[in-house]
Amino acid sequence: MLLTISTTHHPATDLGFLLHKNPARVFTFGLPVGQGHVFYPEASEEVCTAALLVEVDPVVISRGRGGGRAGLPLEPYVNDRPYAASSFLGTALREAFSTAMSGRSRDRPDLAARSLPFEVRLPALPARGDAALPGRLFGPLGYGVSVQEAPLDPLFPEWGASPCQAVTLRAEVRLRDLLAHLYVLIPVLDDSQHYYVSEAEIDKLLRYGAGWLDTHPERDLITRRFLKHRRALQRAAQAHFTPEEDADAGAPGARNVSLNEQRLEAVKAELLAAGAASVLDLGCGEGNLLARLLPERQFTRLLGMDVSPRVLDLARERLRLAELPEPYRARLTLVQGSLTYRDARLRGFDAAAVVEVIEHLDGARLWTLERTLFGDARPATVVLTTPNEEFNARWATLPAGTVRHDDHRFEWTRQEFRTWAQRVAGEFGYAVTFRDVGEVDAALGPPTQMAVFRREAP
Ligand code: SAH
Repeated sequence: MLLTISTTHHPATDLGFLLHKNPARVFTFGLPVGQGHVFYPEASEEVCTAALLVEVDPVVISRGRGGGRAGLPLEPYVNDRPYAASSFLGTALREAFSTAMSGRSRDRPDLAARSLPFEVRLPALPARGDAALPGRLFGPLGYGVSVQEAPLDPLFPEWGASPCQAVTLRAEVRLRDLLAHLYVLIPVLDDSQHYYVSEAEIDKLLRYGAGWLDTHPERDLITRRFLKHRRALQRAAQAHFTPEEDADAGAPGARNVSLNEQRLEAVKAELLAAGAASVLDLGCGEGNLLARLLPERQFTRLLGMDVSPRVLDLARERLRLAELPEPYRARLTLVQGSLTYRDARLRGFDAAAVVEVIEHLDGARLWTLERTLFGDARPATVVLTTPNEEFNARWATLPAGTVRHDDHRFEWTRQEFRTWAQRVAGEFGYAVTFRDVGEVDAALGPPTQMAVFRREAP
């Protein structure tokens, strides 16, 4: 993927000093997804253009992604990620131009503080489902926006327009503002949901949105998409903005998103990203996760199972099953059962969530869950969470050495959890990755640990 920044400021080659990249050299750097290059296709006193090229390795990005969209087995490898401007480009911008983004320039400090004429070209900018969006996002910031649509394939006009457009932006702005706008708005236009977002994203949004996001007419859309539709994070970010009359009720004061909420949102995000349509919620309890999954159209079949009939009654009440319109009710089933027994009802699902359940089982009986879930039900994705025992030192109310809930049979350190999950993955033909949930303590790790298992091809 490519982005170019040109200026006609005189002498234009000052751009090299502003970006801290010498126009005479090619600068190459590593990225988590491949490589970035900065080079100058033209560098004269009249016009100077810096190009940022990101080469992504489709195999690297296919890891840590769900199996792609259902029914498209090659989607993880054959997709628009190599060329469509996305958050990878945002990451590369920050990597390549961090000094410029902070507004510093060793050799041209006065120029860094001034508005200069810039032109930015993005040859393949996705604006999913909304061709006018680049204008609505960049227009209010003072950019002239021109958009050139292209057919998806000139040989097949009936396929319609490509979701990617060639976009040119022109404005007199400070370079640091230009880079901040691009950093925030490119992933917003792309709006892909393929990676995990943490609370660190809120800080990035607030940092690079400083001075313009608060008053932007599309502030809510920008926040929502930048934070990958994670409502808990959005609410946390919104608390930093000036309240609006019609702002989400309850937004002020909602900064302390509860750990429970963060955990459920993180699980939901994984299930969405995995592309799962049918989902098991094993040990569903009162249905807190199911309540969040139910409104998502992606999930067409949900089955909640719990060992406790009493808890299932609460779930029925909480989800107002009896009052739900028929299409919703038909999507959700609640059943009583135990994870310690093989159960044919659990077979044939795309994904399973096992949220804060394993620690309720007797350690010596955990193998029965392994057999039921990974050996017999075998969903393509399993999202499993459990407390991180190390973090207990941080809970003021917990006397040292006690578990968080009287019904917890055990709690694991990060190492214990990893050892278990990796052994299970290996034994049953899954690959496993780990995620942190909640505010991470530098020494103790996160309060909740999550493992995402993906079934490997047989
Ligand atoms: N996943 C829910 C509830 C977690 S509490 C949430 O995150 O809100 C743990 C739940 O696991 C309880 O509802 C408990 O009844 C259930 N549970 C415990 N042992 C189980 C077993 N063997 N099979 C199925 N569910 C079990």
